[in-house]
Amino acid sequence: ADQLREYSYVDGLTKAFNRRLFESDLEKHYRGAKRAEHALSVIMLDVDYFKLYNDEYGHLMGDDVLKHVVKSVKSHIRRPMDAVYRYGGEEFVILLPSTPYDSAIKITERIIKHFFDAKIEHKHSPFNYASISAGVATYNAQSHHESAASLVQQADDALYEAKHGGKNKVCGANR
Ligand code: C2E
Ligand code: C2E
Repeated sequence: ADQLREYSYVDGLTKAFNRRLFESDLEKHYRGAKRAEHALSVIMLDVDYFKLYNDEYGHLMGDDVLKHVVKSVKSHIRRPMDAVYRYGGEEFVILLPSTPYDSAIKITERIIKHFFDAKIEHKHSPFNYASISAGVATYNAQSHHESAASLVQQADDALYEAKHGGKNKVCGANR
């Protein structure tokens, strides 16, 4: 059974889980958070200037950058319920059940710093090195997300804010 999960739910390149498992885990954790009144944090991550990186350094090195994202994430999320998924090309999403907003922000800052500290040369980035941006949104007993999708949308909006507010950083949304 583990092997089957391995084949159908893991992204071959990065070894993150895939979009398909994300959709089902998201619904599961969202229902669980609602029922038990636990927090659920969603983190969207995206590599800055990734297209420019690929064009300059080639797809093999681009692949290494994506693998490094997952490595940075996995070194900071350690609980069995935590998981990282490849959401799109250079976009990833993390689910942290029972984790409040402030903790999710703190963890995300550590991930961004860990990634940047690898000093992966990127001559078309204003930082000179590859970087990632992130957006955080948290469901909790006080928040009023009508659906799991609206929670993800909020994390995506926060990511957009980080992208347009300078990159290599995290922005959060809490309501
Ligand atoms: P910390 O390591 O700085 O973590 C701060 C908060 O970030 C934690 O608050 C938790 O909400 C969140 N957090 C940290 N790491 C993870 C993670 O891998 N996954 C998830 N989902 N959340 C994470 P919390 O739980 O109140 O813990 C406060 C402090 O207590 C932690 O500070 C750490 O120093 C310690 N601690 C908590 N759980 C453990 C544990 O299982 N092992 C160890 N060694 N220390 C722990
Ligand atoms: P560990 O530090 O050896 O902790 C093993 C297990 O003991 C944890 O498994 C958790 O069930 C429990 N535990 C330890 N410290 C605390 C605590 O302060 N509060 C609570 N509520 N439980 C605690 P778990 O959660 O599966 O974590 C596995 C490993 O991941 C931990 O091994 C630790 O290395 C790391 N970890 C998880 N969460 C955190 C965190 O918030 N902060 C830090 N620094 N490390 C964490």
